[in-house]
Amino acid sequence: MNATSSSTTPTDQAGWQALADQLTFEGRAYVNGRYQWASSAETFACLSPVDGCELARVASCDNADAELAVVAARKAFESGVWSQLAPAERKAVLIRFAALIDQHGDELALLETLDMGKPIGHARTVDVPATVRAIRWTAEAVDKVYGELAATPHNQIGMISREPMGVVAAIVPWNFPMIMASWKIAPALATGNSVILKPSEKSPLTAIRLAALAAEAGIPEGVFNVLPGYGHTVGKALALHMDVDCLVFTGSTNVAKQLMIYAGQSNMKRVWLEAGGKSPNIVFADAPDLKKAAAEAATAIAFNQGEVCTAGSRLLVEESIRAEFVGMICEALQTWHPGHPLDPATTCGAIVDQAQLDRIIEYIRVGQAEGATLVEGGMRMMEDTGGLFVQPAVFNEVTNDMRIASEEIFGPVLSVIGFTTAEEAIAIANDSIYGLAAAVWTSNINTAHKVARALRAGSVWINHYDGGDMTAPFGGFKQSGNGRDKSLHAFDKYTELKATWLVLE
Ligand code: NAD
Repeated sequence: MNATSSSTTPTDQAGWQALADQLTFEGRAYVNGRYQWASSAETFACLSPVDGCELARVASCDNADAELAVVAARKAFESGVWSQLAPAERKAVLIRFAALIDQHGDELALLETLDMGKPIGHARTVDVPATVRAIRWTAEAVDKVYGELAATPHNQIGMISREPMGVVAAIVPWNFPMIMASWKIAPALATGNSVILKPSEKSPLTAIRLAALAAEAGIPEGVFNVLPGYGHTVGKALALHMDVDCLVFTGSTNVAKQLMIYAGQSNMKRVWLEAGGKSPNIVFADAPDLKKAAAEAATAIAFNQGEVCTAGSRLLVEESIRAEFVGMICEALQTWHPGHPLDPATTCGAIVDQAQLDRIIEYIRVGQAEGATLVEGGMRMMEDTGGLFVQPAVFNEVTNDMRIASEEIFGPVLSVIGFTTAEEAIAIANDSIYGLAAAVWTSNINTAHKVARALRAGSVWINHYDGGDMTAPFGGFKQSGNGRDKSLHAFDKYTELKATWLVLE
């Protein structure tokens, strides 16, 4: 299947299933302008969490493929075929790339849903448009950023400019495969780098498909390569490679730390990390609209099956309203029951794979063993479909030292913790190794600003959850990472700063 457009977007499960039945799956790597199998000829099975079926065999790349891709990327970079284009010319190509993604929106949404289990409605209305927006916004911005002139004496000129890094390796996770990839490849390509994208072994299909669309848009061969495969093989090979200049990553904190080690063991490549989170969502009794706060707290833990780095997994509620508010959350979660991912009405899809489902179920057991009270959900569902589904779970009577409150579960498991003062809420919120995001709900402008300022997190939302767009930088404090995706700040990661000084005769 090739071109699909929004005018033909299916409106029901049968329509999406019919489209899925026509789908062909590309499983090969994309290196130097062509699709090819891994040098070793090894493949792995790409299983769908929707029903357990094998969707495709996918190239299992390793060191040899990393070598081929890095050589191709370096050659393209040095040739200047992309790196030396005017920013406006790169912009035009990337805008075509974004338009092609848009045109193929149904197909890409379907690949995302079948591969990692998210509801088709979300894949089509969130993942595809957010990917298009990230590439288009970044492309539009790149010819509007200027260098600087230093404040020099009269006989000198100090020029401060940004130059592309060279070869960028981007290693991304499976929860929002295209969006996470686009946050890396858009600024990396826009600033003139050559890129090697390594998607997660759990969700490689859209990244592989994007390679063909990038080529169709006019991105020259060698400039954008895609290497599917495992982290410990091809991911590690890229991270240790002596000719990769910059490594950008989204994924878990443990792997992020390992990547810093690999950089130190090799060529000190620049390493930019977007890692895990355990984000506090703080609700004061004077929140402007408790019903809205409860609805958004439910979304914050159930959207994308809770497989969200910024999931509001710790819900801090002022004691005076805790009982009432927990009831409101449980009610709000009734709209988040798992359903078939190809049904456009489904809000909660399948968990990405068996290992992740087992992890979630184990944490639910741990929460009960630790003495927290399971007040909602937590049961595996729809097993007869062969798919991997679990009801969103709510634990009350949680303390911040429990494992369910301190460790990232990456599933729909909410921990509710009570507090009595703003100072206590801030202390609990900041008592975490993570610092990705946080929210505060209150009608008091002083409380809102005092708490927002005290929270050690890269994004803070007031009276809503998960706000922001491409204009806002995104990233973490503490062990949630370094550097920022999105906004003009993202360009910093993909460019070296050069000072060129001239003394006039
Ligand atoms: P993960 O760390 O297991 O894997 C991420 C990527 O790293 C995958 O492509 C994997 O193959 C690769 N990898 C694994 N081991 C490697 C190694 N030794 N060397 C090189 N590459 C290796 O994470 P995941 O399970 O795919 O994703 C979930 C995690 O991602 C969660 O912790 C979540 O919070 C985080 N995440 C963070 C953000 C953010 O912006 N901060 C966004 C989304 C997800």
